[in-house]
Amino acid sequence: MSSPDGRPKTRIAVVPGSYDPITNGHLDIITRTAGLYDEVVVAVVNLPVRKGKTLFDAEERLRFIEEATGDLSNVRAEAFDILVVDFARRVGASAIVKGLRAISDFEYEFEMNQLNRRQAPDIESVYLMAGPQYSFLRSSGVKELATFGGQIEDLVPANVAQRLKEELTR
Ligand code: ADP
Repeated sequence: MSSPDGRPKTRIAVVPGSYDPITNGHLDIITRTAGLYDEVVVAVVNLPVRKGKTLFDAEERLRFIEEATGDLSNVRAEAFDILVVDFARRVGASAIVKGLRAISDFEYEFEMNQLNRRQAPDIESVYLMAGPQYSFLRSSGVKELATFGGQIEDLVPANVAQRLKEELTR
């Protein structure tokens, strides 16, 4: 697609989430999005109202993402504390990309989509189906496993697994 001046338009997507911490399921969505868009901004929610509720602070959550996506040259990570559609506008994104797991995510995402569409009809929400091996993977489940010494090595990047054990293993 070209902009009015005839130059090809850079297609930018935002992939928002809490990423507390990033899992291999998130990484799968980010990697697939990187193949579809020119630039991908992984947007890490850093809401003061939720302060204290995340296990890792925004800085560390960002670092985990940067380390895990180092080989993807068109991906960067940023924290945000405004409406996701406003953040998308700020970085020049035309799309918000989200992963859909099993059926559990659908109802919530359907509702969020209606709200975001009202706020910003020009920004499209795009949904990628979770890979079958990641359909039941969520950050909270990984944290629970880590707390009780379960195996998490195949669910998150190695450095994240290490930090989870340091923080949670009893
Ligand atoms: P979680 O629910 O794991 O805490 P987030 O709130 O950080 O995840 O979710 C950010 C985005 O990533 C959401 O669109 C969510 O649906 C998606 N996502 C999370 N885990 C997975 C997964 N295992 N496979 C595909 N998409 C996922």
